[in-house]
Amino acid sequence: MTPDPLNHSYYAATANDWRPRPFAGEERADVAVIGGGFTGLAAALACAERGFSVILYEAQHIGFGASGRNGGQLIPGLRWSASQIEAELGRERADALFDLCWRSNRVKARINRHGIACDLKSGHVEAAWTPRDFAAMQREADYLERRFGYATERIAPEEMGAHVATTCYHGGIRDPQGGHFHPLNYALGLARAAEAAGVRLIEERRMTPEEASAKASYVINATDHWIGEIDPALGRYTVPIMNFNIATAPLREADALIPGDAAISDSRFILNYYRLSADKRLIFGGGERYTQRPPRDIAAFVRPFMAELFPQIAAAPIDYGWGGAVAVTMNRLPHVGRRGNIFYAHGFSGHGALVTTLAGELIAEAMAGTAERFDLFANLPARPFPGGKWLQTPLAVLGLLYYALRDRLG
Ligand SMILES: Cc1cc2nc3c(=O)[nH]c(=O)nc-3n(C[C@H](O)[C@H](O)[C@H](O)COP(=O)(O)OP(=O)(O)OC[C@H]3O[C@@H](n4cnc5c(N)ncnc54)[C@H](O)[C@@H]3O)c2cc1C
Repeated sequence: MTPDPLNHSYYAATANDWRPRPFAGEERADVAVIGGGFTGLAAALACAERGFSVILYEAQHIGFGASGRNGGQLIPGLRWSASQIEAELGRERADALFDLCWRSNRVKARINRHGIACDLKSGHVEAAWTPRDFAAMQREADYLERRFGYATERIAPEEMGAHVATTCYHGGIRDPQGGHFHPLNYALGLARAAEAAGVRLIEERRMTPEEASAKASYVINATDHWIGEIDPALGRYTVPIMNFNIATAPLREADALIPGDAAISDSRFILNYYRLSADKRLIFGGGERYTQRPPRDIAAFVRPFMAELFPQIAAAPIDYGWGGAVAVTMNRLPHVGRRGNIFYAHGFSGHGALVTTLAGELIAEAMAGTAERFDLFANLPARPFPGGKWLQTPLAVLGLLYYALRDRLG
């Protein structure tokens, strides 16, 4: 196993027991899945439930990628607002996408069905960094309620203190359908459920689509930001943005920091996102880097973002610091599709904790012959980054720096 300096995580330290059953049989199956994150695991499990024989290959270990390192924020929807989806894609597609991405919560369904112990909590608050952001959030909340009967709670600026102990925000929206969880334990729970459904899981085995195609009738490429290593054409659709998290020591004042125990993310372009762990640590994500090299001291890199919001815990001990690459597409919508016998889903753009399980399940549905809902995703607008292999990341970074600067200048 490759040692990973970015993986000193609270999640790894509190992971549920996991060891895949050893496997030495013939490696032939109906379906070969490449990648043991949420997407690959959900797809593998759903394929097995539909009667396919399935092998899943994971280059490192289950949950090694973004799925085992993320902020654990379960935020309904996509990176586009529902009103933007309707404006760009029309009423009918908006209706169908709304049902899939907002109304149905397949993560919760999986957790309940398989009894996955992953500290699931309800409630997500989107906090407004500026009054203008709050106005836009309220317009969207009105739209969601009027158009879809989807109820959220508007939090006036003077009421924000009941949700989060900072003076930095200008109001917010609480979505009771959102929430947070321990992402690595969810991934491990999916793996256990997949194994129980007959999926053969092989860790520490790097696979390519060509090798996998020789072993199975269908291949699912679920390698997210690594996708370009094994399929350069698909790699052109995402760039990796490094993102970092810390976990403080358990805090006496934890309940006072986030009284409703919601997941909170704010409306800055480089956003802060945070929540409490089951043992009352603050798990805080903030700051991005556009090179693959991590900062020498992740805790020191993230602490100022936490201290800006919560000066009262500016000097709190930090027990863990870790990070990972978020695969971001040009338009921030996931890139999902099929080429011949190879299915793929990647580029969830920092919004994958809920949508990956859905994407995996829709791949299984399409493979079993009902492609209507899979096609909804496969037909989302998508464009490769300009600039080819060497320039695509620098060009994308320039664009992102522009937005970050705009954010800083208000
Ligand atoms: C720091 C961070 C914070 C985030 N916070 C949030 C959040 O709070 N909420 C949210 O919704 N989203 C968040 N995200 C995004 C979310 O985590 C991802 O969208 C999601 O986990 C992607 O899942 P995946 O299964 O597609 O990819 P991954 O989890 O990355 O899995 C891909 C797997 O493929 C394996 N692999 C790669 N190449 C090969 C190969 N050739 N052969 C075999 N295996 C291979 C890798 O080892 C890896 O395990 C965050 C991401 C990061 C990095």
